[in-house]
Formats: sequence, structure tokens, C-alpha cells
Amino acid sequence: MQEGIQLAGRGMTCGGCASHVVQAPQTVPGVQSAVVSDWTAGQATVVADAGLDEQTLVAALTAAGYGGTIQGRHPMREASAPEFFPETPEQSTTESCCVPAAHPITKPVAMARIANVCPECGQKGKPIDSSTVKAMLSMSLTQVRPVSYLFCGTTDCPVVYFSKDGAQTFTTAQVRERVHQKEPNGGDVFVCYCFRHTPDSIRAEWETTGRSTVIDAVNAGIRAGQCACDVRNPQGSCCLGNVRAVVKQVEESTVKA
Ligand SMILES: [Zn+2]
Repeated sequence: MQEGIQLAGRGMTCGGCASHVVQAPQTVPGVQSAVVSDWTAGQATVVADAGLDEQTLVAALTAAGYGGTIQGRHPMREASAPEFFPETPEQSTTESCCVPAAHPITKPVAMARIANVCPECGQKGKPIDSSTVKAMLSMSLTQVRPVSYLFCGTTDCPVVYFSKDGAQTFTTAQVRERVHQKEPNGGDVFVCYCFRHTPDSIRAEWETTGRSTVIDAVNAGIRAGQCACDVRNPQGSCCLGNVRAVVKQVEESTVKA
């Protein structure tokens, strides 16, 4: 059983603040999601396991530099968890008061709702099947909500998956595989997860034989029906594009050397 908890947040002055207020409660165990429905009115809603301690929630907001009081709470069925979004996205994006240095995350929550962008880095995500998210998470799947998820492939962003409403993120630390896109220079990070090829293994073959058979090998595996990118590759889709890019990189660097 879950509860919807209405909060009156204090200190929110822009859409950037709203994204901080959304992130703060998510550090509290038992909180499923948090959304600012209207930052101009200081309205926020947190969906949490029933019985969550109000003081812990308020303390998390205070620690993030905002105040808040609980206005009400009501039981809700998990499947009907609402998707609340900030109003007036234009306002949120143009009237951001947040100074980047003080507020490293300034992408308004509303952006995530509009354009499927990652709430951390602001880059567009790629829709991903929830079966991939479930297969990849290294944590209890009670965190998975009945919403759409997207994959963030931005290299220097820690977020791997985020919910379409921008209220929930899963980071590299919460995923059971190291992610090629997040560590493009990690020689031992799989680029092909089904047949376990890495940049290092591709380079080793190249240095030994002067060629690469990895693309043929992956294609042969695909033809044999052996690949399972949807549950083995964090991006949830075929790795061939990434493998080609690594082969090209290896080729270019060895030609130069
Ligand atoms: Zn991101």
C-alpha cells in the first residue's frame, strides 16, 4: 500500500528549485516518487510506502535548502499512482533563478515531461522497455513504477534510466552492469553484452592479427538467435553500432601509432 503525501514547500523560486525539491525526498527510504505540481504555489506531492515518517521527509527537504510542511496524506493504489507535473513549463524554463554553481541540477522537471529529457543532464533519452530496466537494476524491483522509462546515454551523466515524468532516476550505481556509454574509455567494459566483447578484447585481436572479426562474430550470433540485447545490454537494443564505433576507433589509433 502506498500513500500520496501533499507538501507545501517553501523557498521554491523557479523551475530549477522544483527539480531539487523533487530529488530531495527520493533520498528517503520508502519514497517512490516526488513531483512538484506547481512551484509557484509551492505544491508538491510525494508517493511513498504507507506509514512514512513525516519528520524524515521534512528533514530531507530542509537539508536540500528548502522548507516544507505536510498538508495531507491519503492512501493510494500502486497502479493508480498519478503522474503530476509542474504547470506552465515555459515559465519554468525561462524564469530559472538558480545559479549553476549553487544548483548543479537546473533542468526543470517540466522539461522531462515535455521532451523526454534526462532530469540530471537535460539530454534527450531513448525509450526503453521496462523489462530491460527490471533486468538491469541491482536493487529491489519494488522501486519500479507502472510508467514509461528512458535510457540516458550521456557519458558524464550518472543517470542510466529515468521515468518519463522525470521524477525518478536510476544511476550507474543501481545497475548491475557497467554501462559502455558511461565509460567509453573503459577498456574492460562490455561493448557487446551478449557475446562479451570489450574495447580491450577488440584491440587485442587487432594488435595480434591486424584485423577485427568482432562484427562478423556478433552477426553470426544474431543469426543463430543467441543474442538477448533486451535483457543483457543496458541500452536494451543491439550493440552493433557501438561495436562498429569501437572497431573504427581501434583501427584509427593503431594506424596513427
Ligand atoms: Zn542524463
